[in-house]
Amino acid sequence: MKITNLTYPDYEEVASANEGDYRGFVAIHSTKLGPAVGGTRFWKYENEEAAIKDLLRLARGMTYKNSAAGLPLGGGKTVVIGDPRTQKSELLFRALGRFIESVGGRYLAAEDVGTSTADAEIVARETRHITGLPIEKGGSGDPSPMTAWGVVCGMRAAIEEAGIGDGFDGVRVAVQGAGHVGGDVVRHLLAAGARVTVSDIYADRVDPLVALGAEAADPTAIHAVDCDVYSPCALGAVIRPETVEGLRCRVVAGAANNQLLDGSMGDALHARGILYTPDFVINAGGVINIGEELGRPYDADRARESVERIADTLRAVFARAKADGVPTHIAADRLAEERIAAARAADPDPLSGLRPAG
Ligand code: NAD
Repeated sequence: MKITNLTYPDYEEVASANEGDYRGFVAIHSTKLGPAVGGTRFWKYENEEAAIKDLLRLARGMTYKNSAAGLPLGGGKTVVIGDPRTQKSELLFRALGRFIESVGGRYLAAEDVGTSTADAEIVARETRHITGLPIEKGGSGDPSPMTAWGVVCGMRAAIEEAGIGDGFDGVRVAVQGAGHVGGDVVRHLLAAGARVTVSDIYADRVDPLVALGAEAADPTAIHAVDCDVYSPCALGAVIRPETVEGLRCRVVAGAANNQLLDGSMGDALHARGILYTPDFVINAGGVINIGEELGRPYDADRARESVERIADTLRAVFARAKADGVPTHIAADRLAEERIAAARAADPDPLSGLRPAG
């Protein structure tokens, strides 16, 4: 395998790897709180530049997510270039495993868009620095159901904050993306009495949800559906100049990472009176679940309780935004940065602490 180190300011480590059909990248943004944890995204990027751009944004987002969630973990990410529907292979995941092993435990991989628990099992043949293995194999399993549950708990806190109500009955939610997380979010919302509209670029993801009572929408128009909550659960940068003025919701609360193209989009939501639920706070359920497998045996009930505390973290973000007179995305950044600074002062060598079990 050919591994090439790349230099990016503000990142502790970035590298690319080539082996046969495998082309991937890893980024460690920060280990100031502990080993960097972040998922592996398998996506059909247009080119390497697009993959690296996504990688860097995602790795940095993991640093903020893990900090805001109160976890002793830093931020990192891996991306693999390819179509997850047609280009997965054992050879490829084993190459990915060797690449992760080469980083030596400073980065722990997890599942993300385009990868699954089954893929993690193949990766685990080459490295022990992989989380989210099946529960019966000592891992915490697929993080997506906990991510989805965290999104639903956080969304409930947001609709209360926005004065929409104290439950989902009759609340109109537009969910973009019906994958591992989005599909579960839709099922929870329907069960709680919400009126759900859903879109995906693949009809076979939407059809089972329509059978449960959701309404299907065109993927190009889901952001503009008249609703109470717009829930981005597909890819990032969906709140951008071309879409922000078209939103007809009171709350944005979803699982996707990096929903805002940049900070100015958070300002634009704030100016329009739309309550933005910072993505890295509301979508932390999966990594909170992973945190439960590190250093002690995994316990699903304890994990669920930890995930439900996302609602409290969000209330703290909303309160901080009001106290500081800033939009919620800035309040969330401040909370995360302050925790990193405090932990750094208390423990300058966090990597000597937590290590993955087994
Ligand atoms: P997934 O690959 O299972 O699902 C993503 C879905 O979005 C797919 O069905 C895909 O077809 C669809 N999609 C892609 N582009 C779309 C578009 N333009 N319009 C509508 N649908 C589109 O991934 P996932 O695990 O469900 O993750 C979804 C999002 O949540 C990602 O941004 C991911 O980074 C984030 N996230 C996931 C987890 C997790 O535990 N899986 C944790 C935190 C954050």
